[in-house]
Amino acid sequence: MMRLAFLAPAGAMHRHDGSFGHSLHYAPLTLTTLAALVPENFEHEAVIYDETVGPIPLDLEADLILMTAITGTAARVYAYADYFRARGIPVVLGGVHPTLMPDEAQQHADAVVTGFAEQIFGQLLEDARAGQLQPRYSQQPGFTMAGRPIPRRELLSRRGYITKNTVEAIRGCQLPCTFCAYPAAFGRQVYRRPVEEVVAEIAALNARVVVFPDVNLIADRSYALKLFRAIEPLKVSWLGLATSHVGFDAELVSCFARSGCRGLLIGMESVNQASQSFINKGVNQVTNYYELMQILHDNGILVQGCFAFGGDEDDPGVFDRTVELCIKAKIDLPRYSILTPFPNTAYYRQLESEGRIIDRAWPMYDVEHCVFRPRQMTPEELEAGTFRAWREVYRYRSVHDRLKPYRLAPWLSLPLNMGYKGYADRIERFTRSVMCDNSDIPVP
Ligand code: SF4
Repeated sequence: MMRLAFLAPAGAMHRHDGSFGHSLHYAPLTLTTLAALVPENFEHEAVIYDETVGPIPLDLEADLILMTAITGTAARVYAYADYFRARGIPVVLGGVHPTLMPDEAQQHADAVVTGFAEQIFGQLLEDARAGQLQPRYSQQPGFTMAGRPIPRRELLSRRGYITKNTVEAIRGCQLPCTFCAYPAAFGRQVYRRPVEEVVAEIAALNARVVVFPDVNLIADRSYALKLFRAIEPLKVSWLGLATSHVGFDAELVSCFARSGCRGLLIGMESVNQASQSFINKGVNQVTNYYELMQILHDNGILVQGCFAFGGDEDDPGVFDRTVELCIKAKIDLPRYSILTPFPNTAYYRQLESEGRIIDRAWPMYDVEHCVFRPRQMTPEELEAGTFRAWREVYRYRSVHDRLKPYRLAPWLSLPLNMGYKGYADRIERFTRSVMCDNSDIPVP
């Protein structure tokens, strides 16, 4: 019997004791999917610890630890890996950051998985059981999402998530945004799960609300139409991610509305059209944002609008202009970040070649801190402006002005706004020393 422990360490802000309220996390899919991929005849026990909702026990007993890392959590993941390996437990690392930086991850792991783990996971477990883990396991050609097992949601903590009903449908995005870590790690190919499998999984959940965490639900328009027409009879409400293009495709937006779409996260990125060109996000037309919001609201869809500050075209006035747009266009849930050069992205290579990267501490790559020299302001001005914009757009007065007349699902938008207000009010506490502090993990 092999004891498997699946761990997801979290950065300081998003940790269970950080500033990102419990009401704002939905259950992640990586660890529950990995746990489901363990072959049926492989005798094992599995546990999951997700640090966004609870601590990772340092006295954990396991025969194999598998950890997932993004760039912002990589240093903490490495600290855990060093600690558990010193205790004699083999550690496997995977996810976006180990895929982008496998040689770095290898220094802290018995094995590193690059790309998607589905194809190699059974072999990896057999090797671990035989005490013969290979240093590297990589995604193979011919990857498919057909036949993917149902994630083991029962292994997740019972508390702490806004919902555990996270369901994957389409993996990947073909767009060329220069800052995005996803295509840099996994390529621009799009993988579709058979519609009938997605529908069967949702039907079995017997859920009222479902979240699709896929990075771009409309990466394949005809697949999206087929999927959401098939979901309509299930009568669920759902939330997901799409590009701003969705609002200007009448067939798609009405299909979304009829199928139960209640909220979309949209990467609006900037109020500055030149900044959209800078990050190569041609799909976004800033002059359309008011109309976009009107169309989505008319279809009963709330919008989480995400903006990234600090592109070369951004001047110090960008913060006020963004807050103003969010209020006037009635963006239900604005989210602000700093454009961050994740390793191996085109944006990273540009800044690196210009000698503008000034901080290489991975915990600072949490998209709320500045790790490079901006073109039109200082790093301190960029951080201060971002924090101020967060506070301004989540003042009670701003929340009221954005949400009035409260005709769209206030049961959803109000608690989410209060959750984000808490985040906005505490964000400045997360200084560099707080972000980089992993002293709770013993150094072996
Ligand atoms: S549209 Fe979104 S997921 Fe796709 S490349 Fe751009 S930022 Fe990444």
